[in-house]
Amino acid sequence: MQIKDLIQKKRDGAEHSADELRELLHGYLDDEVRDYQMAAWLMAVFLNGLTERELQEWTQLMWKSGRTFPRTGRQDYWIDKHSTGGVGDKTSLVLVPLVSTVCSRLFGVKSVKIPMVSGRGLGHTGGTLDKLESVSGFRSDLSFEQAMDLLERNGFVMMGQTADMAPADRLIYALRDVTGTVESLPLIVSSIMSKKLSENLDGLVFDVKVGQGAFMKTAEEARRLADVLIQVAQSNSVDAVGVLSRMDEPLGSTVGHQLEVEECADFIEGKYRDPGLLEVIRTLASQMVMLAGRGSVTAAEAECEVDRELGGQMAFELFRTMFEAQGGNWSAFERARKQLRDDLSVYALAAKSSGFVEQISAGAFGRLVNELGGGRKTKDDRIDFQVGVCFQKKVGDAVATGDAIAEVYYRSADQRSVIESGLEKAVVVGSKPVKRSSLVLGICHAKK
Ligand code: URA
Repeated sequence: MQIKDLIQKKRDGAEHSADELRELLHGYLDDEVRDYQMAAWLMAVFLNGLTERELQEWTQLMWKSGRTFPRTGRQDYWIDKHSTGGVGDKTSLVLVPLVSTVCSRLFGVKSVKIPMVSGRGLGHTGGTLDKLESVSGFRSDLSFEQAMDLLERNGFVMMGQTADMAPADRLIYALRDVTGTVESLPLIVSSIMSKKLSENLDGLVFDVKVGQGAFMKTAEEARRLADVLIQVAQSNSVDAVGVLSRMDEPLGSTVGHQLEVEECADFIEGKYRDPGLLEVIRTLASQMVMLAGRGSVTAAEAECEVDRELGGQMAFELFRTMFEAQGGNWSAFERARKQLRDDLSVYALAAKSSGFVEQISAGAFGRLVNELGGGRKTKDDRIDFQVGVCFQKKVGDAVATGDAIAEVYYRSADQRSVIESGLEKAVVVGSKPVKRSSLVLGICHAKK
């Protein structure tokens, strides 16, 4: 078939055969299918979707366009967590050392491995790799061989997608980004799963974010995405669960790379734990432990074990190892931390009236930190790791006029007007008490 015929077929809502999908993807990788043709096909998929069978086949083709983690035997259990992205979402940095500690004690040292492949900031949301790299010296651009070595040594590794991991996704994602075809359920699922399948996992926990600061604006949309992600994972022999969690206000008490790493260190050491962040981390960690236990651990037992390790020293030691094993200078980070407030200017956001905080817009704060240099406008931009926001109040807190709600750390005087306009509608204070609701909306399991 001509490529034009394939585009027309999807445009008219028909189903492709496996051979047709292969011809399209391989043709694209071999430069026989042009960007404009692939873009037209992606738009046809955006409008008409993919059937269940097409989605499975397309995902497999994308995954198999690259290399998979070389793994021999299946005595140990390989697990990861994937978040669909949010503002202040720093859970991976705590989950890796925490889950590793719990699983070592419950199931034996290194019997559970976490090969975590993360991404960089996307739109107004921050990326785990960028947060890790705010600790100077940290390297995330590892080869498969280096990653395998770290997994053997420490039981976990934090890395970016390698050049040879699902290369079709890298090309297609860049094209989607400039052709208005990012927000398509089958394209999102195939993109995420092509990378996750390259990790050769046994188990995977999805944190599907819902709300105005997330891709998925409603719980129904998020549940549907979680169901399809789980279905594709299960049919590729990966155990999976989905946690639906709200992303209306930023997660935790900070937004910004260095500030978020500091918050994680304080969290894991028990110096300060934002209640919302604690709820999400306890849920995700427990789900990971339950999967790794292959049915031997109940939810209550998993939560109890997670709480126990949150009270100990081991998780913090592994947190430090997570940076140092990949070149990060943790001692220098700790020293620089004391200096952060001296290097930057501070804008204090104060309550204009007394009442209760009704809304802190994740989207507005995410965009603000990006504007201040904490995000990229083009993929080659350098990030300012230090700028960011610390919240003194969260949704539900009572405030009196003049109380500090947040402090914004910025670099140069000309950024003040960006802050003032960015914050105009970012926080809403109302007169009535606000009920704090749970951030976790539900857990989705595989359909039997
Ligand atoms: N994350 C991905 O990796 N791909 C998408 O399409 C969306 C989010």
